[in-house]
Amino acid sequence: MFGQEGCIMSAHRIYQNSPYQKSFNARIIRTEPDACGYRVFLDQTAFYPASGGQPGDRGFLNDIPVLDVVEADGDPAHIIPALPVDTLIAGTVDWQRRFDHMQQHTGQHILSQALLRSCGGETVSFHLTEQTVSIDVAIPDLTLQKTREAEALANEIIYANLPVVTLTLSLEEAAARSWRTAPPEGFETIRGIQIGDFDLCGCGGTHVAATGEIGLIKVQKTTPHRLGTRVQFACGRRALDDYREKNLQIQEGVRILGVPENSIIEFMQQLQQDHFTMQKECKDLTRRLDHMTAETLLAKSAQKGEIRCISQIFSHYTMDRLKEMATYLAGQPGTYVLLAAREPKPAVVFARSADLTPSMAALLKQLLTPRGGRGGGQEQSAQGGGVAISELPEILAQAEKFLLT
Ligand SMILES: [Zn+2]
Repeated sequence: MFGQEGCIMSAHRIYQNSPYQKSFNARIIRTEPDACGYRVFLDQTAFYPASGGQPGDRGFLNDIPVLDVVEADGDPAHIIPALPVDTLIAGTVDWQRRFDHMQQHTGQHILSQALLRSCGGETVSFHLTEQTVSIDVAIPDLTLQKTREAEALANEIIYANLPVVTLTLSLEEAAARSWRTAPPEGFETIRGIQIGDFDLCGCGGTHVAATGEIGLIKVQKTTPHRLGTRVQFACGRRALDDYREKNLQIQEGVRILGVPENSIIEFMQQLQQDHFTMQKECKDLTRRLDHMTAETLLAKSAQKGEIRCISQIFSHYTMDRLKEMATYLAGQPGTYVLLAAREPKPAVVFARSADLTPSMAALLKQLLTPRGGRGGGQEQSAQGGGVAISELPEILAQAEKFLLT
């Protein structure tokens, strides 16, 4: 998050002292080929190149879109798909995107200081994407509840509308000040961002001029990350968008459930409990129904001497139900069980009682493999599928013929 003051720079970086400048004129110094087109280097630029967790700006050089801006050999490189005809450039920064980055970035300085003061959590990294903003804080178990004090303090700093000032300090001046993060070594001057008397941090990014412009800081969630905690938050327009979306969701939930919004959680917990109870009841009823069906099947099974063969195709049975019914039926001595289901997908289950032969797995494989199906199991029970529904009657008929012959 530190500046580039120590680097040898040829381009004047307008954004460093004039972060609110949206357009500028410049001259092309040189160009290079790039995977996305070209890299264009200018004598000056208001485009911020990606660094310190803040993404590069977008916008236009004349009428050519700027796809990204990156640091290359100490200069901002503007990545564009085609070269401009003229070497004189009128540059325009995508201001909505840049101002969003300024809100998030300055908000991050404030939240980092607030977390340091409220719970001693030091910020070790900052991540800003189009969807999310987060910092990694070097303390574990930082719950959302524990960030409330820091969030409140951060928003007080916003209401106070403190000036955000960019300082360029000599090493001696820098050494005399108290920094949230130590200034880097090896630079002739240090660029510091001072927020009233609340925070001082070395940083090369772009920031708003006064904290009031951030509007709002909201911590959204915290998650364990390595040895510390990742704190996701939103500032400014992002926080408003987030609130708008979540409010819409809650209001839709209120409409669907027909309960006041402060009862939604309680109501959903009850719904979940009811769902579990009904699921269990449904399972019990299904099992009882399957056992009754099994008794009916036993009564009408084909018999040869002391051996009977139960063969049945169901229209809609899951593999688990088929297997459970087969196990139940095969509990009767002298019983072969040949079950199949058409839906939800063709399934076949063979089982036999312990007093019989042969291997059900071998028999199933013998019948399914030539039909493009697959199956597996043990001596007493096997299951498979992958055959056409129209093949099921023939598979069961052949198995029955084999077992009772
Ligand atoms: Zn910064």
